[in-house]
Amino acid sequence: MPVHLEGTSASRIPSLRDFDLEGRRLLIREDLNVPIKDGVIGSDARIRAALPGLRHALEAGGRVLAMSHLGRPKPGRFDPALSMAPVAVRLGELLDRSVRLIDAGVEDWPRTCADIEAGQIALLENLRFLPGEVENDDALSSAMAGLCDIYVMDAFGSAHRAHASTCGVARFAPCACAGPLLEAELEALGRALAKPDRPLVAVVGGAKVSTKLGVLESLAEKVDGLIPGGGIANTFIAAAGFDVGASLMEPDLVDRALRIRRAMIESGKDIPLPVDVVVSTSVDGSAPVEVRALDAIAPDEMILDIGPQTARAYGALIEGAGTVVWNGPLGVFERTAFAAGTCEIAKAIARSSAFSIAGGGDTLAAASAFEVVDDLSYLSTGGGAFLEFLEGRTLPGVSALEARLP
Ligand code: ADP
Ligand code: MG
Repeated sequence: MPVHLEGTSASRIPSLRDFDLEGRRLLIREDLNVPIKDGVIGSDARIRAALPGLRHALEAGGRVLAMSHLGRPKPGRFDPALSMAPVAVRLGELLDRSVRLIDAGVEDWPRTCADIEAGQIALLENLRFLPGEVENDDALSSAMAGLCDIYVMDAFGSAHRAHASTCGVARFAPCACAGPLLEAELEALGRALAKPDRPLVAVVGGAKVSTKLGVLESLAEKVDGLIPGGGIANTFIAAAGFDVGASLMEPDLVDRALRIRRAMIESGKDIPLPVDVVVSTSVDGSAPVEVRALDAIAPDEMILDIGPQTARAYGALIEGAGTVVWNGPLGVFERTAFAAGTCEIAKAIARSSAFSIAGGGDTLAAASAFEVVDDLSYLSTGGGAFLEFLEGRTLPGVSALEARLP
């Protein structure tokens, strides 16, 4: 039975810091899944997030073999567009040492990896080129384990996947432990959700309720206040009986939204709806943009942001919180005309003295666009893994480490 993960477990998992690494063969699973186009890396944020663990391992005299997946190649086949070669180059620049790319077949791994010396690092080619990686195949997992004295899981962003490199290998490796990034993520998420300073307020925005139903239902039970935002709020607004015009809305989920809202209200929790919204007949800002009361939306208008009064009210709720968990923008923040609501909320979270944690691809883009990155307590590197944690699900990459505990 995998142990249910709620913060406390993080401290029980062995840490890379606990081991004497001198001369030891370390196999470190990182999440180096960077955006890449025509061999050029877009953002290298994920490579940078891996640096503390790798630096520690190298400085402590470890013989380091790093590994990651990149994109979604067809398993079992090499795809030059998704080679780790550019990642090896960038990693080498950031570490200021050469990073050899190991593209040998699995049977040649032991020979090819044997000459990695203490303080040196090599990188395996894209793990998803290997048949058996996503299937969590035992033979592949054990071949990986054969390359190391210590397996280090530091890929929080891939911890929600039960793959050979994130899960299976931990079973066969002589030793298995967590790297510093995984530890930091589990600690921050645990602090926000397991023993939060109250009130705990969650902001869940973004596009669709259907992609975050589990998150909404799980958070609704844990938090003192839940602020639905963006397209997600539209379904809650419709559930409360308002006409949302041409807004993005999921009619099939109106009942679920209503149930979540009623349950929260019955237990005396906050689940506010906007009092004013920003609407337009066009998403691209080419049509007039108006602020309307919730009961005055025309049939051809879309709700594309929260209004200023709502932003102030939500801001006050956030500033009174002890802990804030934020996922998902409150409007179509990519367009200036509909960015103000998300910007105001991001700034309120940044201003608040609450312990704040944010995660999600678009949420991080918003945090960076509105320059609050340095003012949040923690930014999660995991999109899918962050959401699954919020849902209260067990992360296989973490439970595989827990399963090794005596
Ligand atoms: P994250 O990646 O942070 O988890 P999502 O992917 O769920 O966030 O949602 C982000 C998207 O939601 C953005 O592209 C944004 O434009 C869109 N969005 C936000 N509010 C609305 C809205 N009112 N109507 C339509 N789309 C919206
Ligand atoms: Mg997204």
